[in-house]
Amino acid sequence: MRIILLGPPGAGKGTQAKRIADKYDVPAISAGDLFRARIKDPGDPLGKELKEILDSGALVPNEITVKMISDRLDQDDCKNGFILDGFPRSVEQAESLQKMLKEKGIELDAVVQIGVDDDKLVERISGRFSCGECGEGYHDKFKQPHDPSTCDKCGAVDKFTRRSDDNEETVRDRLHTYHTQTAPILPFYEERGMLKTVDGMADMDDVTRQIEAVLKAEKGPNAHNSPKKFG
Ligand code: ADP
Ligand code: ADP
Ligand code: ZN
Repeated sequence: MRIILLGPPGAGKGTQAKRIADKYDVPAISAGDLFRARIKDPGDPLGKELKEILDSGALVPNEITVKMISDRLDQDDCKNGFILDGFPRSVEQAESLQKMLKEKGIELDAVVQIGVDDDKLVERISGRFSCGECGEGYHDKFKQPHDPSTCDKCGAVDKFTRRSDDNEETVRDRLHTYHTQTAPILPFYEERGMLKTVDGMADMDDVTRQIEAVLKAEKGPNAHNSPKKFG
């Protein structure tokens, strides 16, 4: 399975990428997570520059982003497939990705767009937090942990964190970046017959089911990794 998840900030890409990744045993690759890992590393000379860009809501320059994704796709765990979350985010990146995949001899199976209305996105992002230990995502209203201080998934206590760019002002800038730079890649994939759209306004389980239905319908050469488990 080799798929891209597309959608505005807060659409549920990360949530769905992790679920599909767990179920089909392929890695979920988030461009944003790769940047945040570098920001967290005090020895990384790029960290400070990346933090400023992420906090502004703009896109990280292509030279950095494309190389980082290309290197990630070369790792062993991507051999049976991958889910790309948050890349590509511009027509230029989509073109670089086509070229990169061709060079690596890889074909994409599907590009899944998670559609959500803008006014819902601000609510989704302002309520978002995650576990600093295992990365599990939560929401103040839509997905609360059973115990307010404990991660349901890994049991870590008092490890919840919020992203510094998940504030209302940066969200507006990120939405603007999405509409001006990222949305133009939708026709790029539509023209190639690859674009599938799911209704991201539905609840999380429903969105997962919709994505799985898209994947089952795909006829691509690598589309059918077997699920690890059922249910
Ligand atoms: P993205 O990766 O697209 O920015 P996330 O997956 O991080 O989005 O989701 C943003 C926030 O909204 C998270 O707090 C998540 O728990 C919540 N969320 C995700 N999908 C849904 C959904 N279908 N309904 C309600 N809340 C959702
Ligand atoms: P979200 O989906 O909620 O916007 P991400 O974690 O995907 O969050 O992205 C966070 C930030 O990382 C973006 O606002 C942008 O600054 C940077 N970023 C993520 N993906 C890309 C990309 N493909 N190209 C350039 N910058 C990116
Ligand atoms: Zn955890």
